Amino acid sequence: MRDTAARETLIESSRLASMAQPHLAALRYSITPLNYSERIFIRSGLDGSIINAGVERYRQLSSKHLEPVTEGGRDNTSYIHLQTNQSRIQIAEVAKVLVSVNSERVNPDITLDKKAGAVYSTFDLEAKKDCPITVDKVASLYTSNDKDIKNPLEAAQEALQNSGSFEEVLQASAAAWADVWKKIDIQIEGDRLAQKLIRLHLYHSLVTVSPHNVNIDAGIPARGLHGEAYRGHIFWDELFVLPFYDMHFPDTARSVLLYRYRRLDQARAYAREYGYEGAMFPWQSGSDGREETQVVHLNPMSGEWGADHSSLQRHVSLAIAYNIWHYFWITNDSEFLKTYGAEMFLEICRFWASKAVYNEKTGRYEIDRVMGPDEYHEKYPDSETGGLKDNAYTNIMAVWAFNRAFEILNVLSERGRKKLAEKIGLTEEELERWKDISKRIHIPLFDACTEPCRSNGVLEQYDGYSDLKELDWDGYKKKYGNISRLDRILKAEGRSPDEYKVAKQADALMTFYNLDSGEVTGILNEAGYSTRDDLLRANFDYYLKRTSHGSTLSRLVHSYLANLMEDRELSWQFYLEALRSDYTDIQGGTTKEGIHTGVMAGTVILALKAYAGLDVSGERVRIDPCLPAAWRKVAFSIGFRGNRYHFVVTPENVGVKKEGES
Ligand code: BGC
Repeated sequence: MRDTAARETLIESSRLASMAQPHLAALRYSITPLNYSERIFIRSGLDGSIINAGVERYRQLSSKHLEPVTEGGRDNTSYIHLQTNQSRIQIAEVAKVLVSVNSERVNPDITLDKKAGAVYSTFDLEAKKDCPITVDKVASLYTSNDKDIKNPLEAAQEALQNSGSFEEVLQASAAAWADVWKKIDIQIEGDRLAQKLIRLHLYHSLVTVSPHNVNIDAGIPARGLHGEAYRGHIFWDELFVLPFYDMHFPDTARSVLLYRYRRLDQARAYAREYGYEGAMFPWQSGSDGREETQVVHLNPMSGEWGADHSSLQRHVSLAIAYNIWHYFWITNDSEFLKTYGAEMFLEICRFWASKAVYNEKTGRYEIDRVMGPDEYHEKYPDSETGGLKDNAYTNIMAVWAFNRAFEILNVLSERGRKKLAEKIGLTEEELERWKDISKRIHIPLFDACTEPCRSNGVLEQYDGYSDLKELDWDGYKKKYGNISRLDRILKAEGRSPDEYKVAKQADALMTFYNLDSGEVTGILNEAGYSTRDDLLRANFDYYLKRTSHGSTLSRLVHSYLANLMEDRELSWQFYLEALRSDYTDIQGGTTKEGIHTGVMAGTVILALKAYAGLDVSGERVRIDPCLPAAWRKVAFSIGFRGNRYHFVVTPENVGVKKEGES
């Protein structure tokens, strides 16, 4: 750095939040005058008046969430104590400043300045040319949500006393990270970009949800802990993330599921509020488990507010059910299933059963007033009320859940089943009804070639979708260039995406992301629908042409499905776009508002599931690789039912070693 008086200073900084002791953080500034010797002043602070202002459109909203309780300090130590202004969570931060000159510790006189919620330590030193001054700050942080403490300020003070120096904090953290990397790393030879971006995604996943989550009550926020987009809310994105934790950090995965379990009562109350039974988890939620989805939405293209029905994405509950099953499958943690998982799973099934209404005329069960993952379709074009009937993805996943419910009941002992049935009042009649719904559910299918004739062909995104208008995709691309947010474009033109065959992201196709084609066919056949052999291909070809990929999640799903169909080039194209989502900020400005957790963990899973060809859906781990052209070798480890396996895959060979065995 060169200042206005031509003084040149080398400033180097490093900072870390400890992976070894989650209550500790540290930073180091090293300041070296390069062409002068003079007295310099240094100020280091703890500032609780900081606000998050990274999302432009939220700036008019209140962003002051903290209020000061007390602050102070002595010598080289300072503290602030704050509380959140709504939930009254106490937060205490304590910091010490350690100064050295030329690696020799010095003790400058430190003056403390205070204002409400902030403390600054100021000191000055004689800086000599080419002599580095190192300022280390080690800080500790506790909140009143932390377990096993009396008071967060005292806990933070104690943690700081035991923290050691910057170097010690760094070394302990680096050692903890090394253990983490040993588990999660995917080593790719031949493709530096994929290697770098997969590691970037691994890193950001781990700083969002880590082994330390077992000690806190936290879910998986859609935008990580990196920015305040979506206000930290939790959606269904954990569907794309949790399988990663299932295989590496089962205790962490369990803690994320327990986060949902602790909010089961709110989900029950939410279902009752809408006249349903069981548990209806909210589309967007925060700490108290209530529905937090907005009911009006600002279109930045037109500056206008419009109704937002996205809370009708009831499929979030199916994502939770899917994750419960997947966690159990990978870990064999039947204890979790007995104590928490089965209860949540059955309550979710119950909710879907109560949403299914038998139509005497058609002889089929229908599920109305929902939205699928494609957020462009919120209602029928001529309707004022939100919601659509018989979203194919939702109905198939509901049947999948009913089927799995019986397997889950079989995992429980006779006594455990009885106990649980008593606890939640589950009856044999209800179970019979679930079977009946599975056999007679309405799953809309249509013949994509001769619309609107409804013969069995392609899954209809929802009942009535095939009657919508086709969009002139080429015309819109020509006019607008990037049309990924077609909803905003159409609305700004005074139209509505509800009128068109367009999709923001995979919706009907999500079915094939979660379940293999055989399972989907089985569910359809069981419900009395005949199916074509190329069900996936037909669906993929139909919806690909009508999807704008307005969500980063869409590329993941399309990449995976293209790979299943052995369309390697297309799969790789989507995969690369997914890999680059946050690295190059493909949505033009959303990355600075927070990373996209789903796509980050999702690309890691896809590297294994799609390209290394790892299949953990059976009793045994299977592997059938088809490496991307540039990948000469990929090495990784996974955990499956209590064992860990290390794989080395090349285009010619697969090597597998059970870890712990030589
Ligand atoms: C996507 C949702 C997702 C949410 C949070 C939206 O853009 O359409 O599927 O849950 O972002 O990531």
